[in-house]
Amino acid sequence: MGRELRIGLLILSALSTSSIIEANALVDGVVDRLSEYIQVDTTNPPGNEQRGVVYLSKILDASGISYKTVESAPARGNLWAKLEGGDKPALVLLHHIDVVPADPSYWSVDPYAGLVKEGYLYGRGALDMKSLGIVQLQAFLALHETGKRLNRDVIYLATADEEAGGYAGVGWLIENRPDLFDSVGFVLNEGGGGRFMGEDDVVFTVEVTQKIPVWLRLVARGNPGHGSAPQVETAVSRLIRAAYRLVDTRFKAEVIKPVREMFRGLAPYQDAGYVEAFRNIEDFVGDPDFMRSLQLVNPGLHALLRNTCSITVLQGSSKINVVPPEAVLELDCRVLPTQDVDGFIEQIQTLINDPNIEVERIMSFAPAVSSTTTSLFEAIRSTANKNYPEAKVIPGVTTGFTDSHFFRDIGIDSYGFAPFVLRPGEGSGIHGNDERIGIETLKEGTQLMIDLLQEFTTD
Ligand SMILES: [Zn+2]
Repeated sequence: MGRELRIGLLILSALSTSSIIEANALVDGVVDRLSEYIQVDTTNPPGNEQRGVVYLSKILDASGISYKTVESAPARGNLWAKLEGGDKPALVLLHHIDVVPADPSYWSVDPYAGLVKEGYLYGRGALDMKSLGIVQLQAFLALHETGKRLNRDVIYLATADEEAGGYAGVGWLIENRPDLFDSVGFVLNEGGGGRFMGEDDVVFTVEVTQKIPVWLRLVARGNPGHGSAPQVETAVSRLIRAAYRLVDTRFKAEVIKPVREMFRGLAPYQDAGYVEAFRNIEDFVGDPDFMRSLQLVNPGLHALLRNTCSITVLQGSSKINVVPPEAVLELDCRVLPTQDVDGFIEQIQTLINDPNIEVERIMSFAPAVSSTTTSLFEAIRSTANKNYPEAKVIPGVTTGFTDSHFFRDIGIDSYGFAPFVLRPGEGSGIHGNDERIGIETLKEGTQLMIDLLQEFTTD
């Protein structure tokens, strides 16, 4: 049975005839809508998310759904709309309106034209994450149009500033409008999704946690002087010594539960030499040779198995013959979500072993992991399997961070789940050039999101 037919039968059992026509129109309409949303330039910096709010408002107006908007700062728009339902914990459909900059000289098409070419829709935000925002919107509208009684409130939430940390978006709303989230139990956001592995195998990862960013600034101080008269010790020499200690350090490996499940789920798709290790990853992480080879082949997966630090910024003197009074190094550390951030910073201080180097915390989050045994996780699994019967659904852990951490920090289960099944190579445009999504991928994803929302919010 073809996928389209299966999907058709599913809708038939869930919706009335007129709702089917409307749901089909929402699936077909997703391409034009995403194209239009891409044409709304919300590049961050500066963001201008209010433009996106205006665009989404028009669609909600036409559908007769009321909504509210707020600017956290001039032009930094945020929008939310609610479908009222029963007493079960509410669901938030979250996306960020902003996108990262695009340099047109590296693109084969205008990144803000929303062009369709050879079966793909191109543009900044086609994957990250205007596509998911529009797919959530179509599913939200489909739910509204069924007129069915919902077992919980469903909130459509579009926010500013994720690409610069989210403090003018989700962070701002949680701080200034906590009432919005009083009854919320679940969030669906970016961070996971489906992929074709080889021929027909489909794997969905549902992101349940992230490494915690611990961004640190190390400041060494010493006597300034002339470059022609070297001193025994300077700010720069101290800092370089500390940097050496850091680059030579490999933090102790630890396999947290969702990472173990993720590796086990990915095992069948690895090169022969790695299958056994992925299946029983905890038996292999103590082997430095294995860890080194994994880091060479796949630095992202390796980073899920231990705390890491990348030295990213180095500053000494601005003039060749001046010994500076101060030298600075910035560290992008990512800590496993089971660990204590203060303890980790103490560990860094011990490692550097130099009281003349100050360790400042630039930013860090609280650690949190969402459960894999909730009703929403189960609904994602069952809906994914109805639309793709052979698909595997596994927990996912990411090395980067999204706005989900704001919700996890206040005890709300948040899942990274985009309903798209990407073909090999299709995900490569995220934050890069020629970002694009397949038209079929987009439509099938819309249908999956419509099904998921029906499954989770109607009895
Ligand atoms: Zn994103």
